[in-house]
Amino acid sequence: MKNLILLYFILLGSLCIAQQPIAIVIHGGAGTILKENMSPEKEAAYTAKLTEAINKGYEVLNSGGSSLEAVTATIQLLEESPLFNAGVGAVFTAEGRNELDASIMDGKTGQAGAVAGVSHIKSPILAAQAVMQRSPHVMLTGSGAEDFAKEQGLDMVEPRYFFDQTRFDQLKRIQEREAEKSKEEGFLNPLMNDEKFGTVGCVALDKYGNIAAGTSTGGMTNKRWNRIGDSPIIGAGTYANNQTCGVSATGHGEFFIRNVVAYDIAARMKYQNLSLKEASEQVIAELKTQGGGGGVVALDKEGNISMPFNTPGMYRGYRKQSEKAKVFIYGE
Ligand code: ASP
Repeated sequence: MKNLILLYFILLGSLCIAQQPIAIVIHGGAGTILKENMSPEKEAAYTAKLTEAINKGYEVLNSGGSSLEAVTATIQLLEESPLFNAGVGAVFTAEGRNELDASIMDGKTGQAGAVAGVSHIKSPILAAQAVMQRSPHVMLTGSGAEDFAKEQGLDMVEPRYFFDQTRFDQLKRIQEREAEKSKEEGFLNPLMNDEKFGTVGCVALDKYGNIAAGTSTGGMTNKRWNRIGDSPIIGAGTYANNQTCGVSATGHGEFFIRNVVAYDIAARMKYQNLSLKEASEQVIAELKTQGGGGGVVALDKEGNISMPFNTPGMYRGYRKQSEKAKVFIYGE
């Protein structure tokens, strides 16, 4: 009898664990990503790296790791790849520097951390996590953020560590094109000129029902005046709340800041009772009417996933319980 009762509880326990879904969703930037501009080799390289990143995060979740651990492990891997505009391969400022931004949020505690405008921290997402977990602050910038990272024992690098020739050539091309434009015409639409995408982001749901979200970027090519976009801004580029959803954004940051995009998706779920799909699709469609190009990846506490974007393409993919990783690049 005793054994039967024990068996009953073991079965009940494993049933409860089985019912809690795990899921991970990532993006590698949105923009004018068109099949006709993509070589088969490049497409294969993106697909392979995105798949590797998804599987890395999924394995963390599957082996009982937290959503925060999955998000940092996944983003770190993408930061190390020159294919994306984060870490190595970050875009260049007008002065030819790399200024990196990142943020992370824990949907269980509501805690968050971010760094902006840093050039010597090997992994900006790890620095954002350190700000969240080991400082009383949410966002640190520039040399102060770097002093903090050093004190925390994070890996520091010379700025040339981030250098990528392709990104540097992009800067030169954009500067030539912008120089050709008259002042009356205004600036080039940054996401439609095919040169300024590649931010990375990840949202994960772990076995314990906790959601975490993170984003890491080099910002936008040819940025000036220590411009900072939405990626390190909690509520704009990143948001997580166990009660609603986690969101990581990519796109023309100024629009994402003004529209508080990541939080707006969660707020529509909370106050209007919208589903994740409805809330995220509405927000991204509204951005389009303003001329704000980009998209988000998001998931809710049930493990539902949404990846809306209003640009021609967005590097993206996800993996859910007992499914294989799925990766997409172009629009429908
Ligand atoms: N959102 C980023 C920024 O504005 C850029 C991007 O996602 O491509 O800095």
